[in-house]
Amino acid sequence: MWDLLPPFAPSSQLYEKFLQLTGAGQIAVNPRSASRGFKQALHRANISVLRAAQLAGVSLEGNRLCALKSRRHGELGADIFIDSSLGAELAHRAGVSFLQGLGQRGLSHESIALGWIFEVEGMTLSQLQILEDKISLRLLDPKDYQAQQWLQLWPAYLKDRRRLQMDLLDDQGNPKQMYTATHDSADQRSPALSIAFHGQLHRLPGLKESPTRLDAANIAVLGSRLSFNSLLFRNDAEQNRQVIAKHGSPLPWMWRVANDVTHFFISNGAKRVTWMPELYIRSADQIAKPSEALSAQLMAQGGVPRQHALGTFTYALDFRGSSAKFIPSAKPTFNFGYRHTLPREISNLAVLGPSSGFAGLGEGAGRIIELNISVGQGLAIASSLSLARKLPLAAVNPQEVVSFMPAGYTPYGRPSNSTSLNLLFRQLQYLFDSCWSWLYKFSGLPRLRCDPRVLPCDGL
Ligand SMILES: Cc1cc2nc3c(=O)[nH]c(=O)nc-3n(C[C@H](O)[C@H](O)[C@H](O)COP(=O)(O)OP(=O)(O)OC[C@H]3O[C@@H](n4cnc5c(N)ncnc54)[C@H](O)[C@@H]3O)c2cc1C
Repeated sequence: MWDLLPPFAPSSQLYEKFLQLTGAGQIAVNPRSASRGFKQALHRANISVLRAAQLAGVSLEGNRLCALKSRRHGELGADIFIDSSLGAELAHRAGVSFLQGLGQRGLSHESIALGWIFEVEGMTLSQLQILEDKISLRLLDPKDYQAQQWLQLWPAYLKDRRRLQMDLLDDQGNPKQMYTATHDSADQRSPALSIAFHGQLHRLPGLKESPTRLDAANIAVLGSRLSFNSLLFRNDAEQNRQVIAKHGSPLPWMWRVANDVTHFFISNGAKRVTWMPELYIRSADQIAKPSEALSAQLMAQGGVPRQHALGTFTYALDFRGSSAKFIPSAKPTFNFGYRHTLPREISNLAVLGPSSGFAGLGEGAGRIIELNISVGQGLAIASSLSLARKLPLAAVNPQEVVSFMPAGYTPYGRPSNSTSLNLLFRQLQYLFDSCWSWLYKFSGLPRLRCDPRVLPCDGL
């Protein structure tokens, strides 16, 4: 039964296509092959991309967006606009109101940590594991004066040697090595490398007391290159906006840290460290008045009603590095639709990505690309219906949109505090619904129930 309702919801069909298109291995996406895959797909579909549009303004007629003005490409008109730029620049220019940071009041200054991805060449995963072993043993050796000095920057470990031992050693008493669940990735489990980096470079580990932290890494194996997602920078909503406005370019002060990281890896045997041109921006201000917010609270309740759901998504609300420390950790399994992308102010505009309407904290899960691609699939259907019926995007019936989604999948979002009995009930209900929808499919009966208050039922 658990197979039917796994703890992590299955990916949408479009996300699976995205993985194929980008040539993702088991986990790792190589930016070069992803870029090649996208170019070929756009070419096949005969879609041209106008790069770096450099927005200069917009033309509005009442609550409709008619055209955007671009410095490089002139005036570009359309019936529907989907703003999937990270900071929703078009929506800002169209006068849409935004919720700052991660929510109201104190949270309006908060943002999620920035990352800077780097690639290490000339080092294999096994060499890194040997390095982890070596550093762990040094940190546990009280006679190793230098390694004990590194620990001065980690007061929690200095005070509690047992905790240090627990974090550095596995159950068998061996140094914890990075974990390789797939052939193209590894996850560090030990703080050893982090302690050595901050110790050797005399850099206080952040992100509260200091602006930087070399965290335990997620490593993508891209042929002979190891791509590290581990360097974090303290961030707030103001700095996040600055970085978005500069299209993700690293801030000048970050280069000093990057040079230190390069030095650390080279001095430990790497041949080359390459820095990505853009920072990893996790967060953005969100549209303040979406048709229906996909808030953290709604996620915890199981998400949007099942009749309106495009799919189900599970993700831990992840506010990496945010100092909003009172936010309890949660991993909701929720149904999602697309109506959180529709700002009430403009009838033919959607905002897709971290800037959609997550009412602040919902962004912790809402920022994830797997979700946004799946939302995009529904939004594309809603856009076609809106054009065909000459309706505002928000007036399209979400149930009709759902009826056009690929068959074979029943959403199963559930309240986060479900008891075993609730879960059992949901599992039975899920089985029943799945049988019902298959029956409909094979009997040829129309699945759609149109709500006449929302949509005139012509053409159905
Ligand atoms: C190392 C790493 C690991 C990650 N791991 C995961 C993961 O495991 N799972 C996951 O779901 N997410 C992951 N992410 C996050 C994920 O990659 C991002 O959330 C995702 O790429 C964001 O996609 P987006 O389309 O919303 O924004 P972007 O990728 O930023 O796309 C916005 C696009 O808009 C274009 N644009 C902006 N302004 C203009 C303009 N004026 N004119 C023309 N074009 C413009 C930009 O050029 C860009 O192509 C990871 C990210 C990194 C860096």
